[in-house]
Amino acid sequence: MPRPAKPDNEAARLKALHSHQILDTAAESSFDDLVTIAAAICGMPMGAVSLVDAERQWFKARIGLDETETSRDVAFCAHAILDPHEVMIVPDARDDDRFRDNPVVTGSPGIRFYAGAPLVDVDGMALGSLCVMDHEPRDLAPYQREALNALSRQVSALLELRRVSRALRLQLQEREWYEDQLSRFSDELELQNADLNEQVRLDPLTRLPNRRALGAALEQTLADGQPFCLALLDIDHFKTVNDTHGHAAGDEVLVQVADVLRATSAGFGLVSRHGGEEFAWLLPEADLERARIQCEYLREAVAFASEAMPVTISVGLARRAPDDTVGDLMSRADKALYAAKHGGRNRVVSG
Ligand code: GH3
Ligand code: MG
Ligand code: MG
Repeated sequence: MPRPAKPDNEAARLKALHSHQILDTAAESSFDDLVTIAAAICGMPMGAVSLVDAERQWFKARIGLDETETSRDVAFCAHAILDPHEVMIVPDARDDDRFRDNPVVTGSPGIRFYAGAPLVDVDGMALGSLCVMDHEPRDLAPYQREALNALSRQVSALLELRRVSRALRLQLQEREWYEDQLSRFSDELELQNADLNEQVRLDPLTRLPNRRALGAALEQTLADGQPFCLALLDIDHFKTVNDTHGHAAGDEVLVQVADVLRATSAGFGLVSRHGGEEFAWLLPEADLERARIQCEYLREAVAFASEAMPVTISVGLARRAPDDTVGDLMSRADKALYAAKHGGRNRVVSG
C-alpha cells in the first residue's frame, strides 16, 4: 500500500490547521449536520469531516464510522488534499492500487467507494476533506458531486467562523483583563495621590499641618476677606532642651507642645508647625484682645503640660489689616514674637 504523498506546502498547511485549535475538541452539531446532509444527498452510509494532521486524520464529525481517528497512512482524505481544487472519487477501492490492500478496505469499516471534497481555507490550504463512503462500489451523479463540493465550502466557512469568533472571544477577554488592570492601577494611583497630598500637607513628626498648609489657608482666608488673627509661637530656649536631653527628647517635647496646641485650639481655626520649634495658630477671631486671651490660655497650658520636661512658649500675635498680604501679616506677627522674646519670654505680645 503506497503511503499518501505530503503536499508541497505541508508545513504551512499544518500551521494553518493548528491555528484553528480544533483537533481533539468535542463534537459540534453544526459540523454533524453538514455531514448528515452530505451523506443523505449522496445516499451513503458513512461520512466525515476529516482533518489531516501530521500523522493522523481526525474526525470532527462522522457517521457510520466507529473510530475518532486513523493513521494518516490509511487515510483516503490524505490523498484527497493533494489536489485542493478537485473532489476525489474512488469508485471501487479494490480496483485502485492506492487502496487495494488498505486495512480500512480489507477490514473494518470495509470502504469500497469514497468521495472527498477538500476543505480549503482562506489561504488556499487544504486542511482535510468532507467525505462520504459506501461499502459498495458506487459513483456520484453530477448534482451530488456539486452538492458535496458546496457542503465542503460550508464546512470551510464554519471552520473560519469558529476560528475568528474564538480569536475575538480571546481578544475580548484580554481587553477585559487589561481594563481590569487599568482600573486597579488607577485606584492604586488615587490612593497614592491621596497619601502624597497628605504627606505634602502634614508635618511627619507632630502630624500637624505644615507651613505649606498654613500658607494655603492664609491665602484663602485673606482672599475670603474675613477678619482673623495670626499667632506665631516659638518654644523658649529649646536649644537647651536638645543640648541637655538630646535630640530625641527634643522631638518628644515638640510632639507634646503640638498635642497641647491641638487640644487647646480644639478645632478653632488652624494650628500648624511652622518649622523647627515654631508653630502658628490662625484664629478666626476678629477681636485682637479676645485672640490674645486665647493665646494666654494656650501659653499657660503649654507651661503646665509636663512636669517632667517643662517648656514655655513666646507668642507674637497680629490682626489682619484690610490690605494685608500673607507676608505683611506674617512680618507683624514675627515682630510681636521678637518683642515677646526680648520682653523676657513666656509671654504673649500683640502687634
Ligand atoms: P529662643 O528662646 O530664642 O527661641 O531660643 P531657642 O533655643 O529656642 O532658639 P534657637 O533658634 O537658638 O534654637 C532652636 C533649636 O531648635 C535649634 C534646633 O536644633 C532645634 N530644632 C529645630 N527643629 C528641631 C526638631 O525637629 N527636633 C529637635 N529635637 N530640635 C529641633
Ligand atoms: Mg525659633
Ligand atoms: Mg525658640
